[in-house]
Amino acid sequence: MTKPSLLILPGDGIGPEVMTEVRKVISWFGQNRGLEFDLSEDLVGGCAYDAHGTPLHDDVMAKAQEVDAVLLGAVGGPEYDNLGFDLKPERGLLRLRKEMDLFANLRPAQCFDALADFSSLKTEIVAGLDIMIVRESTSGVYFGEPRGIFQEGNERIGLNTQRYTESEIDRVARSAFELARRRNNKVCSMEKANVMESGVLWREIVQKVHDADYTDVELTHMYADAGAMQLCRWPKQFDVIVTDNLFGDILSDTAAMLTGSLGMLPSATLGPFMENGRPKAMYEPVHGSAPDIAGKGKANPIACILSFAMALRYSFDNGAEANMLEQAIESVLASGARTPDLMGPDDGKPFTTSQMGDAIVAALR
Ligand code: NAD
Repeated sequence: MTKPSLLILPGDGIGPEVMTEVRKVISWFGQNRGLEFDLSEDLVGGCAYDAHGTPLHDDVMAKAQEVDAVLLGAVGGPEYDNLGFDLKPERGLLRLRKEMDLFANLRPAQCFDALADFSSLKTEIVAGLDIMIVRESTSGVYFGEPRGIFQEGNERIGLNTQRYTESEIDRVARSAFELARRRNNKVCSMEKANVMESGVLWREIVQKVHDADYTDVELTHMYADAGAMQLCRWPKQFDVIVTDNLFGDILSDTAAMLTGSLGMLPSATLGPFMENGRPKAMYEPVHGSAPDIAGKGKANPIACILSFAMALRYSFDNGAEANMLEQAIESVLASGARTPDLMGPDDGKPFTTSQMGDAIVAALR
């Protein structure tokens, strides 16, 4: 049987540091659970620019199209701030997303019990929280034409266009229903069908996809503003939320911050299904390259390790191993282990990046 393939792109700043800890986890699964990957590794971002004069070499782009999943660390750094727009590290990331047609951005908001009192909400509201926001990420008002700033009579107008085709809504709805089937089987679709025609079409198509192919999944609809309120009032009522690019941008940040530090937040972006039945996919922590702490052993590797757990669950059908990994992280946090981002000034001695990775591997044992 061919091994599933994973392309690792550590990137810049703390990217390589947190990826070192993911590699320890991958090795553990290989040695102890017979989970073997066809691993390859390459450059993206500033380091790719340093080596090749471009933030993403064509060969790496081609490789990303071939593999079952890409796992990325982070890109960027102040030394690249003055480069032209097309050479900036972030362009490497955007090219990957665009050419792989990654249209469904998955942002989980998962609260580990040990960190529940880190949230700005009451502990009982966030403890045990586990929801997934699916944000359409290649269309909508951020891309719609016409757009621009125009002169109209005596004043200028700023114009953007919210535009969705039926097929764009259909495919992101399918991603959400498929995910729900691997979770708690509930989808809540959010739009503003009360005031926007694009919202009316969104609601109609999501319902149509549901009635045709996913009647086993519970579907509800909610206006996005009410959804934002409910996310803060009682987020545990949700399982999967599917929404457009603009509302998803705001709702996923709101939901993510219910759970604490940037160092804890994984993400995935999924594209069309390939011939082998797997979606094209890129997994990455939400955080950036954190130049302020790079090279100091202060980075929290959990966001990147949780991104690998998402890859196990959504690309490789290893849900049991993903659960194991999340439970190992839960138990390490419950034991009091903390990187500096999860601590107050008087909370004792922090774990280094490497100690946190080692502790997670030890907990897997
Ligand atoms: P950032 O996410 O890198 O850092 C924001 C703050 O959070 C910093 O104080 C940092 O120390 C802290 N932080 C981030 N990740 C952490 C972790 N794992 N553990 C502990 N602390 C962590 O955002 P920024 O400072 O706005 O951007 C820095 C660079 O990263 C920029 O060049 C930016 O363009 C780039 N960036 C890249 C991505 C990406 O690769 N996906 C995302 C955001 C920003």
